[in-house]
Amino acid sequence: MAPVAKLFDFIVIGGGSGGMACARRAAAYGAKVAVVEGSGRLGGTCVNVGCVPKKVMFNGASIMEAIEDAKHYGITVGLPSFDWGYLKHARDEYVKRLNGIYERNLTKESVEYVDGMASFINSTEVKVNGTVLKANHILIATGGHPIIPKVEGAEYGIDSDRFFELETQPKKVAVVGSGYIGIELAGIFKALGSNVTVFTRTSHILRHHDSIIGDTMLQEMKRIGISFEHNSSILGVKKREGAELPLELSWSTTGSDSRSSDFYDCVLWAVGRAPNTKPLNLSALPGVELGKTGHIIADEYQNTGVKGIYSLGDVFGKSELTPVAISAGRRLADRLFGGEQFANSKLDYVNIPTVIFGHPTAGTVGLTEEQARDTYGENAIKIYQTRFTNMYNSLTPYKPPTAMKLIVAGPQEKVVGLHIIGRGCDEILQGFGVAIKMGATKKDFDNCVAIHPTSAEEIVTMR
Ligand SMILES: Cc1cc2nc3c(=O)[nH]c(=O)nc-3n(C[C@H](O)[C@H](O)[C@H](O)COP(=O)(O)OP(=O)(O)OC[C@H]3O[C@@H](n4cnc5c(N)ncnc54)[C@H](O)[C@@H]3O)c2cc1C
Repeated sequence: MAPVAKLFDFIVIGGGSGGMACARRAAAYGAKVAVVEGSGRLGGTCVNVGCVPKKVMFNGASIMEAIEDAKHYGITVGLPSFDWGYLKHARDEYVKRLNGIYERNLTKESVEYVDGMASFINSTEVKVNGTVLKANHILIATGGHPIIPKVEGAEYGIDSDRFFELETQPKKVAVVGSGYIGIELAGIFKALGSNVTVFTRTSHILRHHDSIIGDTMLQEMKRIGISFEHNSSILGVKKREGAELPLELSWSTTGSDSRSSDFYDCVLWAVGRAPNTKPLNLSALPGVELGKTGHIIADEYQNTGVKGIYSLGDVFGKSELTPVAISAGRRLADRLFGGEQFANSKLDYVNIPTVIFGHPTAGTVGLTEEQARDTYGENAIKIYQTRFTNMYNSLTPYKPPTAMKLIVAGPQEKVVGLHIIGRGCDEILQGFGVAIKMGATKKDFDNCVAIHPTSAEEIVTMR
């Protein structure tokens, strides 16, 4: 006899950024909601193996950099020593506290937390550890996972999830990949004292961002002593038991027949992420389609091809960022359970600001210069740029650059892109994100009185 199904108004598969936000908002409207989470801990990628623990590591790295700067301000702090294990355990405790807060939030909102992996039986039923849950609305917010390249010995390397499991600091690290995750983790390793080489498939890094970000970041990463192997193609990894640097990484370089190799004690794969769809048994839902990259296709309202089934966040694959998943989740809950006033609620995916917590930090919103040219035409856009040294570095012998690019379009000079890199850019961008979302023009920027002395003031004084 088939088990009796537990009935809900809404089942959310995935207790990460998008799923939690959507479930809690739906419950606030009085819906009977279940959140199914398969990893044993709530919070998803962001809380457990993403934004949060990464920012803790970034903060530690930034303190090390400040100690280096101190002597140029006449402050003697002695030679710093760093205990990776201490920081790891303090960080883990913090993440555990967050897991607890997430769980208590569900209880507070009367959302049922179901511990286990969900798979579909049909469009209204999912199975979790032998229990059947039934609802007319089901959200797939299952996120993604790091891709491991298919090369010999790939298992000797770690991915970003396992970066957070490292108990001790590696001495010599190979970071394979130069998207934002690779660049951020390379910067953290280096600032905390590891020797770092970044392997990139092209001569650039951060290829999906405006060139001012990638070029400036590359220049600064080189200045702080990170090595780069550009145009490289990884051939494999071999392990020598007992050696101080046990991993031999081999690669070839485009345009050359030669094969190179070097020894490391950590190889980090940062070559991209793929959506979590396999355990869902999507074959039970023939109308749910996957795109070329395996992400679950949905329309602007997050509806998949099957009525009552929705997808958002990293598994949907548009702007894979925590606040995007949260915003899409809340809007979906508004639309499904918030009544007539929210009937058209959906997330606008245009002009989403985002930051790279590199060394230095970078922020970006809107179109890159290349995208702006394609969208508006060569003659309809104008670029304002500036490059300077932050006053903070006026006393240091090294002068990390700050670079800013403002892209405007049309006779009104509407701001369609802003790309900034340098000290403090992570915190600067949010407010400009609001202005750009509101449709600000260059004149609006000019009309705003500068705050002096800051580096942000350059954004409203560009000529
Ligand atoms: C190293 C790193 C750093 C990052 N830094 C930032 C940052 O600084 N800022 C930012 O905005 N974003 C950052 N991100 C991206 C951000 O973490 C993701 O965009 C965000 O977590 C996506 O939320 P989500 O709800 O779609 O998925 P997730 O948060 O990944 O949640 C999905 C959940 O679903 C669960 N699950 C999967 N399959 C099933 C199943 N069948 N049944 C039950 N449960 C299931 C998973 O266990 C997971 O808990 C970072 C990511 C990484 C990897």
